[in-house]
Amino acid sequence: MDNNSSWTSWGAQQPTLTEPAQEFLATRLGNLTPLRPVAVEDASLPDARLPASSKQRLLAALGPDGLADDAVTRARHAGGQAYLDLIRRRRGDASDAPDAIAFPTSSTAVNDVLRICSDDHIAVVPWGGGTSVVGGLAAKRDGGVAVVALDLSRMDRLLGVDPVSLTATFEPGVRTPAAEAALAERGLTIGHVPQSFERASLGGYVVTRSSGQASSGYGRIDDLVVGVRMQTPRGELHLAPVSGSAAGPDLRRLVLGSEGTLGVVTEVTLRVRALPAIKRYEGWVARSWEDGVRIMRRIAQGPGRPDIVRLSDPDETSVSLALSGTAGLQRRALDTWLRARGVHNGCMVILGFEGERRDVAYRRGRAHRLLRSERAVPLGKSAGASWVAHRFSGPYLRDTLLDSGVLAETLETATTWSGLAGLYDGVRQALTDSLRRDGRAPLVGCHISHIYPTGASLYFTVLAAADTGAEVEQWSAAKHAANQAIVAAGGTASHHHAVGTAHRDIVEPDLGGAPGIGVEALRALKSYLDPAGILNPGKLLPPHSSADS
Ligand SMILES: Cc1cc2nc3c(=O)[nH]c(=O)nc-3n(C[C@H](O)[C@H](O)[C@H](O)COP(=O)(O)OP(=O)(O)OC[C@H]3O[C@@H](n4cnc5c(N)ncnc54)[C@H](O)[C@@H]3O)c2cc1C
Repeated sequence: MDNNSSWTSWGAQQPTLTEPAQEFLATRLGNLTPLRPVAVEDASLPDARLPASSKQRLLAALGPDGLADDAVTRARHAGGQAYLDLIRRRRGDASDAPDAIAFPTSSTAVNDVLRICSDDHIAVVPWGGGTSVVGGLAAKRDGGVAVVALDLSRMDRLLGVDPVSLTATFEPGVRTPAAEAALAERGLTIGHVPQSFERASLGGYVVTRSSGQASSGYGRIDDLVVGVRMQTPRGELHLAPVSGSAAGPDLRRLVLGSEGTLGVVTEVTLRVRALPAIKRYEGWVARSWEDGVRIMRRIAQGPGRPDIVRLSDPDETSVSLALSGTAGLQRRALDTWLRARGVHNGCMVILGFEGERRDVAYRRGRAHRLLRSERAVPLGKSAGASWVAHRFSGPYLRDTLLDSGVLAETLETATTWSGLAGLYDGVRQALTDSLRRDGRAPLVGCHISHIYPTGASLYFTVLAAADTGAEVEQWSAAKHAANQAIVAAGGTASHHHAVGTAHRDIVEPDLGGAPGIGVEALRALKSYLDPAGILNPGKLLPPHSSADS
């Protein structure tokens, strides 16, 4: 990783935009002003405010290399990976930095940190892979004297595998590639593959209720967690692995989605399964968004569905092709081919099948019959291979776009099939109206990639010319408009990115709505588990008042 990685960039890869891609952006978005990032060493940070006595106690608990408060480490922990985080850091603004970073190596050390910070009124922000896109890592003091980021990257071991029950127990800070590599040696896999796969941690997935690209087959993380250990200022909550139970409410569900506000997950037991014998990915084109949505619904409501299912709307399909780096000649040939079949304004569908040969053959056959009945056009394996090759490219490309002066951000929601069209139209319209400049509309694309028998998620990608110097205000206004549209259409505040600070203003309907019984029950639980209110203040729960926002 280069020096700026994890400060302003996703990694060392620096994709370049082809000339046609640059032309496409200039034509569609207008003038762009390049933005070069400020180096991490030049970041401006608030003075560290950790009291000397607290620092001594933390050092005694964690050891001499278990606590850092140098400017570079603090700046690298100044927020997550949302557009707003990246823009602030690119401009050298690390005001979201914590006062110190603790690196525990055991549950005992985590408990010690929670005890010391509770005694000394220091806020604690648990840190997994640092990929939050909803402000979940912002160092909010909320009346505390200082903020400590609790970086779990040194708790990254595979603790055990139960090959009979097919479960694996991990420490929380392990990154997915390392977790999958350790399991692959035993012929096993978790199958949780979000786009942030390379950097996010297992603990982070659990507390944000993450959903991976293969959620249709493997399930979301909620479906994979069978046991968990969480440290709270009151002590440890240990929910042992269980396959099914009617012993009261399932408290695992309180840990899932708790976003570091109730405790720190220090151990997680996940369902695993045998590595698939074969993998088949392929592309199709649906004739229209409406056709594509119907195809998704029929797949979701029928038996034997694919493991990966994706439908891009016409705008996302055309923008992906324009930015994909495909040579002009190939693009024109593809366009002619699609035109000849009447689907040049169509919607890309990606299907992925993983498993035993016969099972894959059965499910593919079923999906093919369904797609043909909807007059979708097959693109074959090469489209699937291309998707696989680029499945983790998005964040690298985003760095290049931000360098070029493009506002590039995503947001997501979900609803029932019957509400999906209204939600889609409402959010697109809100983003387009908010980001229109000088008569030019932004590029707003959307895809469905998580389907259920009763509904689906919508994932929007937005590209616009950044308002140089006012990027934060520009995106904050657009995000607010999108949030209001989501509420108006009855969508959830988040399908898989979680709440953080970005959605806490609109989360109440998801938590039971007025008169706020659900929210108050959660607050009561938090005040029991975290009486000093040190755990990730200002996240998840709706603000009490404007002073709290
Ligand atoms: C480019 C990109 C692509 C993404 N793609 C997807 C995707 O496909 N699917 C998806 O679901 N999400 C996606 N995300 C969002 C993000 O990766 C997920 O929310 C992920 O689950 C966060 O994991 P993390 O380890 O990085 O957690 P962090 O970002 O470090 O933390 C997230 C929140 O959890 C808390 N936390 C972290 N670890 C613990 C712990 N052990 N105990 C208690 N609290 C903890 C933090 O305080 C914070 O509030 C993407 C993000 C990016 C930047």
